[in-house]
Amino acid sequence: MIPFNKPPYTGNEDQYVLQAMRSEKMSGDGDFTKRCHSWFEKELSCKKALLTPSCTAALEMAALLIDIQPGDEVIMPSYTFVSTANAFVLRGAKVVFVDVRPDTMNIDESKIESAINSKTKAIVPVHYAGVACEMDTIMDIASRHNIYVIEDAAQGMMSTYKGQALGTIGHIGTYSFHETKNYTSGGEGGLLIINDDQFKERAEIIREKGTNRSQFFRGMVDKYSWVDIGSSYLPSDIQAAYLWGQLEKANEINNNRLDSWSYYFENLKMLESKGKIELAIIPSHCKCNAHMFYMKVSDMQTRSDLINHLKDCEIVAVFHYIPLHTSVAGEKVAGCMVKILIQPTTARDYLDYLFFMV
Ligand SMILES: *Cc1c(COP(=O)(O)O)cnc(C)c1O
Repeated sequence: MIPFNKPPYTGNEDQYVLQAMRSEKMSGDGDFTKRCHSWFEKELSCKKALLTPSCTAALEMAALLIDIQPGDEVIMPSYTFVSTANAFVLRGAKVVFVDVRPDTMNIDESKIESAINSKTKAIVPVHYAGVACEMDTIMDIASRHNIYVIEDAAQGMMSTYKGQALGTIGHIGTYSFHETKNYTSGGEGGLLIINDDQFKERAEIIREKGTNRSQFFRGMVDKYSWVDIGSSYLPSDIQAAYLWGQLEKANEINNNRLDSWSYYFENLKMLESKGKIELAIIPSHCKCNAHMFYMKVSDMQTRSDLINHLKDCEIVAVFHYIPLHTSVAGEKVAGCMVKILIQPTTARDYLDYLFFMV
């Protein structure tokens, strides 16, 4: 049986988790958290990295940081996970969905500007499948209209856009370490990236329940107290320890995924040239992390047939997002897409079956 997803595991996680459990400080911002923060700041080349309990939490922090007020508008693709929208809706924002490009399934940058008005506060590009959105264009639009860019890079660890790590280009970036992502901090986890200096201090405060506790630990204040709104956005050091076991082997994990991805891609190209499926397109200036392998088929019936056939062959494939604008909580703006998605874990058996179908 080939599962839909196999969480990454290097074997070193166990010893680090045990170490964190037996240390004097299991709560947030312990030794492993500090190690992870330094690793991200160096490897991603960013000003500030803060672990969070999830990408959802990091997105909520972003909404607090840019001070979303009721009635503000936030632009994002409809083809994304619910958290991208929820984080802003929770602060009273109105979400404006912009359609995606069919080649990358990322927000269509050429349609963003027409969605901007005086209430627009931010654009939230989602780097689908770890392939970058057109960030030069998006940053240019944002600076001309004086609005923020919050990158939802949940799927994008180790991916780049013109050499720059995803999440480090906009004012704020967010990552996920949920077990379905390329790296996990033990099932749930996330990361907030601060690229704009004005948010550095307040991000620490919001993350520490609205207190200046981080400044207190650095000896900058005598006593810590309630200074702003905030919530509990610190993961425990045990989660950071699990993640550390993976960051140490980050390249190994990445190369392994890329190998599987390329194997699928090379062997399925034939079906694409016959017009049976559409494969992902990765622009040459984008380096991808093989977060997922997806194929698009022509219609819902073909999709169901393929998923069922694969299931009979003990291969789990699923279809991906139901566009948010068609969901119960969503708004009606963008178009609908049909696709199936498979995470690259074990390529071989899957290919055999698919070739049988041809
Ligand atoms: C996974 C994901 C999230 C949510 O991540 P969590 O860590 O589970 O909160 C948000 N946005 C996108 C695009 C995702 O893929």
